[in-house]
Amino acid sequence: MKSSYRIFTRRLSRYVEKSILPTPDQSIVTFSFDDCPLSAIQTALPMLEAQDWSATIYVACGLCDTENHLGVHMSLQDVTDVHARGHEIADHTFSHLNTMDVSLETFLADIEKNQSVLKSLGLPPSRHFAYPFGEVSPTLKRALRKRFSTMRGVISPKTPAQDANLLNAMRVYSDETVELAITQISTLAETPQWLHFFTHDVRDTPSEFGCTPENFSRIVAAVKSSGVAVMTVDQAYASLQQQRNVS
Ligand SMILES: [Zn+2]
Repeated sequence: MKSSYRIFTRRLSRYVEKSILPTPDQSIVTFSFDDCPLSAIQTALPMLEAQDWSATIYVACGLCDTENHLGVHMSLQDVTDVHARGHEIADHTFSHLNTMDVSLETFLADIEKNQSVLKSLGLPPSRHFAYPFGEVSPTLKRALRKRFSTMRGVISPKTPAQDANLLNAMRVYSDETVELAITQISTLAETPQWLHFFTHDVRDTPSEFGCTPENFSRIVAAVKSSGVAVMTVDQAYASLQQQRNVS
């Protein structure tokens, strides 16, 4: 598919097939990790657990026990262990597919393959999804809104409004993105919002899609100072639904 068409489709997706969530009465922060880098669960999750916080891991089970530019990926046993530690396991397709490269049928079947692996591990069905590579189309949004409560992209928030079918999230990658994240954290008290951070590998020499432990700990410290609630995607979503029901 031509790249200009991909860019058009991805941009169009921001404006159609939306399910706008209520803005929280009080800010919420979510941390998520994509794919399954072992360094994320060995290095970053303990920092969150030290604060009694849980994260959401968007797992593509086909990456388990493999190694790529993000480093070594966790095993299926690690996925089970992370779930047992109270973190949320969400979906990211089995093969980490780019929706622009395959048919909708193939993409949906790959999601079901991922879900069947998670089921074989004794995990509950995932209620949330992240688009691999952040690639999304209006057709895919329409198909997945029936399947998942939320789907996350890789676009930074411009306003506090969150579209459940294409959640905004801020990258925690380089020094520059960490500065942007810390600036956004400084707005949590005055502007109620669901602020969602995501990254991949967390190690001393991270990929361009990951961050250093030092930078991750700076974000953790800033969120802790803000005093806002940290929730998994599912907890945050449930909180917003409850707010919708009482308002
Ligand atoms: Zn991914």
